[in-house]
Amino acid sequence: MNKIIAIANQKGGVGKTTTAINLGASLALKNLRVLIVDFDPQGMATVGLGKAKEKGKGIYQVVLNGQDVMDYMIPTEVENLFLCGCSPELSGAEAELFQASEREKRLKKALESVRKLFNFILIDCPPSLGFLTINALTAADSILIPVQAEFFCMEGIPDLFHTLDMVRTYFNPQLYIEGILLTMFDERTNLAKQVAEEIKNSLKGVLLNTVIPRSIRLAEAPSFGKPIILYDPKSKGAEAYMNLAEELIRK
Ligand code: ATP
Ligand code: MG
Repeated sequence: MNKIIAIANQKGGVGKTTTAINLGASLALKNLRVLIVDFDPQGMATVGLGKAKEKGKGIYQVVLNGQDVMDYMIPTEVENLFLCGCSPELSGAEAELFQASEREKRLKKALESVRKLFNFILIDCPPSLGFLTINALTAADSILIPVQAEFFCMEGIPDLFHTLDMVRTYFNPQLYIEGILLTMFDERTNLAKQVAEEIKNSLKGVLLNTVIPRSIRLAEAPSFGKPIILYDPKSKGAEAYMNLAEELIRK
């Protein structure tokens, strides 16, 4: 299996980065080779994996300066899990891509040489539908959409689907939806249950079976630079992300 998944939702703070880190680590624990691409200038996937945002060393250099991605990926604390991190220059990428040639296909080209080396490449997208996200969707086989279990969580989904249609039409006809992932789910509240029902009814077939619970341990782990399976392997959050890995492998 060699699959590239863009983890995207233009809504901020829905669990994209938490999912990139912890799904990546869980897949790697199952002996699969995984590369996480930190494509968000905030660089939280880089920091959350215990790495610094280093000048001149990241996905920006690959996508905007034509460097080889092989030279810019680094191992992490988890065996089989590699990172192509975010350098500070990525903040300028959105504007620079605007003027670049083949501006939507840069990441796709950059990853072509390494896609065979990994079972999964996960791209952590920024909370916008700009050129970075469009590059990720053009490079990807599928999109995984984390959605926070709260009121109005589906509000931006029509815009996201519109962007998916646009990307399919012009750049990547095969792009499909891996699934919608309900995150920060609090089983004690009726609201969360209602939200889950609403998504199930309005988007039949795309809601993943695995649900990520709200867990303080998941929120704490990045400040220690660790995925949850290293920080607290017995926690509910660790179990949920292992289940998600299993579900995606079986798909
Ligand atoms: P952004 O759009 O800014 O990139 P994001 O979609 O990547 O945000 P995260 O950074 O993963 O979202 O999560 C937002 C915040 O919620 C973080 O502080 C994170 O630690 C916390 N968080 C994520 N998932 C959970 C969870 N299941 N339980 C509790 N806290 C969570
Ligand atoms: Mg993020």
